[in-house]
Amino acid sequence: MKLIGVDIGGTGIKSALISCKKPDDGSSYKIVHRSSVPTEAKFGREHIVENICKAIDNYRSRTDCPVIGIGSAGDIDDNTGKVTYATSALPGFTGLDLRGAVRERFGGKVVVINDASAALVGEVYVGGCKGNRPMMLTLGTGLGCAMIEDKGKLGSGSVNNIRLGHYILHEGGRDCRCGNKGCAEMYVSATGLKLNGDREKVEDILYDPAYAYAVDRFCTDFKDVLEYACATYRPDEILIGGGVVEMAEQWWDKLRNMCSPAVADILQKAVLGNRAALLGSAYAALNGDYGSQMSYSN
Ligand SMILES: [Zn+2]
Repeated sequence: MKLIGVDIGGTGIKSALISCKKPDDGSSYKIVHRSSVPTEAKFGREHIVENICKAIDNYRSRTDCPVIGIGSAGDIDDNTGKVTYATSALPGFTGLDLRGAVRERFGGKVVVINDASAALVGEVYVGGCKGNRPMMLTLGTGLGCAMIEDKGKLGSGSVNNIRLGHYILHEGGRDCRCGNKGCAEMYVSATGLKLNGDREKVEDILYDPAYAYAVDRFCTDFKDVLEYACATYRPDEILIGGGVVEMAEQWWDKLRNMCSPAVADILQKAVLGNRAALLGSAYAALNGDYGSQMSYSN
């Protein structure tokens, strides 16, 4: 069986053709082919939706199963597939009926969940994460966070999307895309690292010893966010994912050494890398209970 997974971010829209032998056996999920198109967010809602459809269209004719799973940045009502809130990283996205727009174009079953939630579903149900109360933080342009309290039930509301990225870490600090100042995602993300070192590329900071101060600051802020999240939500496993984790050898040990044992002992690198949200959204679309829609077999 083949289906489509989509991962919508502020910079790029990834899509993949995914195959699985058994819908409820996460270990049987494989990415057959993947690609990405630029989001081109600055052109606004209609243009972004057009690019999402372009990303799906790459694979639509090659599936025998009309199911599309989408993980998107922003706050998503997974019961209806509507975007309830998005920052200016995706202009005009707030209020968009994303599921409706995609179904109108392609038909079939479409499930839309938050991108951090999709990544966590991927790590837990496809990647085999063992925790009973796993939490995931995804570091990209922003900082996403999701947590699962009951692995037995997958569907609407089963993954708790936590707005940790907009937790005020530094009162009166850097301007955030949400309109507030000092939000965690302006420090603990690729954006935060770039601002710390005043460079365009994360690689230029992480691989140049002259910018050790910028990496130190990133780790100190990251540690504070992790300690807060751990004390408040009490996860039994914390997974770290997103693009910055692909360069984790440059900062992981430093971060871990700063953390209290309670955090350091449950901290893990996500195993699926940037495939997590693609696989997770596909798995959720086939197995989760997300509002009433025609069954894909109809
Ligand atoms: Zn914010």
